[in-house]
Amino acid sequence: MPAPTDASAALFARARAVTPGGVNSPVRAFDAVGGTPRFIRSARGAWLTDVDGNDYVDLICSWGPMLLGHAHPEVQAAVQAAVACGSSYGTPTEPEVELAEEIVARTPVERVRFVSSGTEATMSAIRLARGATGRDVVVKFAGCYHGHVDSLLASAGSGLATFAVPGTPGVPESSTALTLVLPYNDRAAVEKAFADHGDRIACLVTEAAPGNMGMVPPEPGFNAFLAETCRAHGALFVSDEVMTGFRASRTGQWGLDGAVEGWVPDLVTFGKVMGGGFPAAAFGGRADLMAHLAPEGRVYQAGTLSGNPVATTAGLTTLRLATDEVYDHLTRAGDTVKAAVGEALNAAGVPHTVQSSGTMFSVFFTEGPVRDFEDASRQDVAAYAAFFHAMLDGGVHLPPSAYEGWFLSAAHDDRAIGTVLDALPAAARAAAA
Ligand code: PLP
Repeated sequence: MPAPTDASAALFARARAVTPGGVNSPVRAFDAVGGTPRFIRSARGAWLTDVDGNDYVDLICSWGPMLLGHAHPEVQAAVQAAVACGSSYGTPTEPEVELAEEIVARTPVERVRFVSSGTEATMSAIRLARGATGRDVVVKFAGCYHGHVDSLLASAGSGLATFAVPGTPGVPESSTALTLVLPYNDRAAVEKAFADHGDRIACLVTEAAPGNMGMVPPEPGFNAFLAETCRAHGALFVSDEVMTGFRASRTGQWGLDGAVEGWVPDLVTFGKVMGGGFPAAAFGGRADLMAHLAPEGRVYQAGTLSGNPVATTAGLTTLRLATDEVYDHLTRAGDTVKAAVGEALNAAGVPHTVQSSGTMFSVFFTEGPVRDFEDASRQDVAAYAAFFHAMLDGGVHLPPSAYEGWFLSAAHDDRAIGTVLDALPAAARAAAA
């Protein structure tokens, strides 16, 4: 039964009169699935409540950050106490030291610098990589998103391992002329790029496990191969853990491969979970590399709100509460949802594949395996749109795009998961129609 959306529709109309497309980040506009985006009034635990009073199980979780669920009482209390002391001073504070210590303890980085968004984190990591190596070329993979950094909003040029072209108007060719875009999971393409340009490559940046084309896990040993190839050519390996950090596992994607295989990335970017729902992100790495940053070194990087005490308190409280039990719960809840999605789509005869890395997963509306962006692009996006809207009618808010991960939280209890399971069969039939 479609829920009333009058209040959301009215707000969307007002929003469009004052904001491009009515939203402050494009995917929120529902362009990929059609219909009216739900304007959310409040959220608690696993549930969103929109301005029409409809409740939805949230499978977006703010695109990753809400690992503990919405309005977690301890995070709220810590944030309220921090705000009561003042919200930003432009001077060093204790919470940022504590959060840096927590990140250094849980990940392979030795030093960490805070910024306010994942975009800033990757942009700054690349500047640092170029400054530290004295080289200029950056390698990335098609389908990996690293924020709206000009040089990374790039599409592959014609032919393998040629320099990239801008991925959007507004990015000049000069900004992508030093970027190489390769197919993900393709060792031969990486080898060729390094054979052709190795002495100019400052860094290779990759999502530690891509989640921005849906979940496309690195094939076994792929990240180790990237780390080794970079090392052999004097380039830096930048692992973007903005999405996977403290989510794929307690120690991020690195905990699933690097920690097991015995290699470490040179630089790592973080965001999302480590901000606990507030604007906080970071980049970090080996002490000798991070020493190139001002004021220790000569590579400039700064930020008015960087290490903000409210955001770092939210992140610190979230990470301290993100225990092994939380990740065990995410694994169990994810397994239940993945199995039920597969069952429902199979029963309805909808081609699909479910892919995961650690506790993260997504559903592709195409036969698998999906190894790279080209595979992901074969999805039946119309089937996803029908599925999405039927789930919404069943009280479940999925990401409004087929190219996204499905996010759970520690607060997704039996009632929330039960609502997802109940909604699936009808949604699968809608996708088949
Ligand atoms: N890197 C990855 C892997 C991301 O998933 C994102 C955002 O989704 C970013 C970077 C950019 O982060 P932000 O949106 O905070 O700028």
